[in-house]
Amino acid sequence: HIVVVGSINTDMTVKSGKLPRPGETVLGGVFFKNQGGKGANQAVAAARLGASVRMIAKVGKDAFGEESVASLAREGVDTAGILTDAEHPSGIAMILVDDRGENMISVASGANLALTPEELGAVEEIIRSAGIVLMQLEIPMPVIEYVARMAKQHGATVILNPAPAPKQQLPPELLAHVDILIPNQTEAELISGTAVNDYESAAAAAGKIGQMGVRTVIITMGAHGVFVYDSESGNSEIIVAKRVKATDTTAAGDCFCGALSVALNEGRPLNEALDFANRAAAISVTRRGAQPSLPYLHEMSTR
Ligand code: ADP
Repeated sequence: HIVVVGSINTDMTVKSGKLPRPGETVLGGVFFKNQGGKGANQAVAAARLGASVRMIAKVGKDAFGEESVASLAREGVDTAGILTDAEHPSGIAMILVDDRGENMISVASGANLALTPEELGAVEEIIRSAGIVLMQLEIPMPVIEYVARMAKQHGATVILNPAPAPKQQLPPELLAHVDILIPNQTEAELISGTAVNDYESAAAAAGKIGQMGVRTVIITMGAHGVFVYDSESGNSEIIVAKRVKATDTTAAGDCFCGALSVALNEGRPLNEALDFANRAAAISVTRRGAQPSLPYLHEMSTR
C-alpha cells in the first residue's frame, strides 16, 4: 500500500475575476469550503485512482479536524494513523483563484506542525509495511527525515514532493533517502539554485538535484508537462502536457504525485506511471478546487 505522511487542512477558496494586489479588495467572488492540505489531497488522489492508502498526520481537537478525518475515511483512506492534538487547531488554507486558474495560497498549519518523530512509534508498523511512502513539506522537517530513513530501511520507495517551496536547503541526509523528488519549476529552482523556465534549464536543475543524491528527479512544468531525469543512467525525458482548458490549477501537483504513486505501487514502469500522472493532473486542472478536482479511476481514458 501507499502511505502518505503529510498535512490535512480545510481550504477556504474564493474565486473571482482577478487576484487582488496587496491592499486591494476585489468584489464579486464566489466562496467554496473544501478539504485540503497537500498530504490529504495526495492521499485522496491516490485512493480515487484505486490504491490502498494509509495516512499519517495530525489534526486539532476541533470540528474542522473531525470533518477532515471523516471525509478522508469516506474517500477510502485508512485514517488509523491520524493523531489528534489538544493544543493546536486543525490546519487551514486560504486560497484565492482567478478566472484563468491562477492561485494565491496562505496556510495556517496549526496541528500539522505539532507532529513529532517521537510520536511516530505508535504508527511505525504502518510505515514498515509500506510499498511507497509519499511526503510533502507541510509537516516538520524532522518528521520527514525520520520517516524517509525508516521507510528506506524497510525497503519502501520514498517519494518527496518538496512543496510548498522550501525556504531553506533540504537536508542532504534527507535527499539521500529520497528515491523520487517531484518539484515544480519554482521548487526546482530553490533546491538547485538554477532558474527553471524551459526544458534546457530544467535539465540543468535536474542534473544538480541528481548530484545531491536523488535517484529520479521529476520537474513538473504546468502546461509544459514534465521533465524527468534519472541520475543513475543519466537519461532524461520530456512528457508534454495534455491539451486541456485550465480553469483552476489548485492541486494539479498533488494529483500528479498521488497518481504517480498509484501507478508505481502497481509495479508499473516509470514511463507508464508518468503518463498516468500527466493524464490525471490534466483532468484536475479543468475543475475547480483541490479535492473536488481529483479524478476517479473510471474517468481515466486509456488514450
Ligand atoms: P504545481 O501545481 O504543483 O505548481 P504544475 O503547475 O507543474 O504543479 O502542474 C503539475 C502537473 O499538472 C503538470 O506537470 C501537468 O502534468 C499538469 N498540468 C498543470 N497545468 C496544466 C495545464 N494547463 N494543462 C495540462 N496539464 C497541466
